[in-house]
Amino acid sequence: MSTIQPTTRANPKVAVLSCDGYDPEILDKIIDQAAGEAGFPDITGKRILVKPNLLKAAAPEEAVTTHPGFVAAVLRFLWKRGAASIQVGDSPGHQNSRAVGKASGIFQAAMDGGASWVDFVPGEPRHAAGAKLVKSFRLASALDDCDLVVNLPKLKTHRLASYTGAVKNLFGLLPGLAKSSMHLRFSDKIQFGTMLVDLGLSIENSFHFLDGIVAMQGEGPGNGDPFPLGLVFASKDAAALDWVAASTIGYDPRKIPYLRDAMGRGGHALESPGIDTGSYVIEKKRAKGFKLLPYTAQANASLSEIPHYLEPLAMRFLAERPIFNKERCEGCSACIRICPAEALELGRLKDGKFQVLIDDKACITCYCCHEVCPVGAVSIGKIVWRPGRQRKGK
Ligand code: SF4
Ligand code: SF4
Repeated sequence: MSTIQPTTRANPKVAVLSCDGYDPEILDKIIDQAAGEAGFPDITGKRILVKPNLLKAAAPEEAVTTHPGFVAAVLRFLWKRGAASIQVGDSPGHQNSRAVGKASGIFQAAMDGGASWVDFVPGEPRHAAGAKLVKSFRLASALDDCDLVVNLPKLKTHRLASYTGAVKNLFGLLPGLAKSSMHLRFSDKIQFGTMLVDLGLSIENSFHFLDGIVAMQGEGPGNGDPFPLGLVFASKDAAALDWVAASTIGYDPRKIPYLRDAMGRGGHALESPGIDTGSYVIEKKRAKGFKLLPYTAQANASLSEIPHYLEPLAMRFLAERPIFNKERCEGCSACIRICPAEALELGRLKDGKFQVLIDDKACITCYCCHEVCPVGAVSIGKIVWRPGRQRKGK
């Protein structure tokens, strides 16, 4: 059974439970109940790969990564259900996974929880049945030796995709720089979303627990603010789970390309996808005051529909590009290393401050630089053509 169902699955089940914090005793009960309601499979004697969100090194309270208490509770649950072995791993964009694991507390949670740590390297090609754009993926080899992926995303806003949860977290199963090449290949936001759904189709067995206890609002996925949402989501169906979670924080999931595509491919009517949430009623629980990001995919997609000769003018009004703040920049080069388009260069000003220079024409607006900056020196906004804008090669 793949992560995203290419064929019609009538009324996918999504369990949503309230949980105010990461207290182990309470969380154990919530995970147990959520799994039961969402139809967690029999894992007696099975090999499990646990995939948290390890975007970058950050303390648990920053809500950048899955909370270590959440990971620990799921590990206890998996052993209790009879797992034979558990590996924990992820592939952060530009940092070593163990370093990120240690900073986030997840490495320790894995060790204390009796799991082993796995570094992701490319495995065998995996066929994505029903794919539209990418027919096969070389995901982490850890998948080749596991019976079930237990996906543990963090609920966050996301500059490129608007929202990130279960479907987007699986992108981290692509080891290292393979992620950059996907950004480069699918710079169009709609196509990028289609690729994400294809990737989900290549994973045969998975289950998803979304950490929405403390979510991230605003400048996600790397530099937003924690938001105490107090919810745990669970499902066999990544897209249905995300549909419910994105709706809960106030998005219209039909405007998020990969969710629209995934649910459409599953044969669900987008006006009323028929997700079974039990007694949970989204309209009653919708989060108030959650700071959302705009639907960036739409703004950038509309740019591609404009005649070529009008592009420079249109870019001025439509395109949202990274803007580098020299007052905050510490010159760590993380943004330069992650940039798939090689559009960035590090410069030094006379006063000793660092200034990141950008080639606006090369930039594919993937926003990876925004994700990884450790000090929030990258914001996203409309280009302002002013004499002082520092541009690479100028
Ligand atoms: S400059 Fe930033 S947004 Fe542009 S391609 Fe590079 S990483 Fe992506
Ligand atoms: S903008 Fe951020 S990521 Fe880029 S060099 Fe400066 S501090 Fe590092």
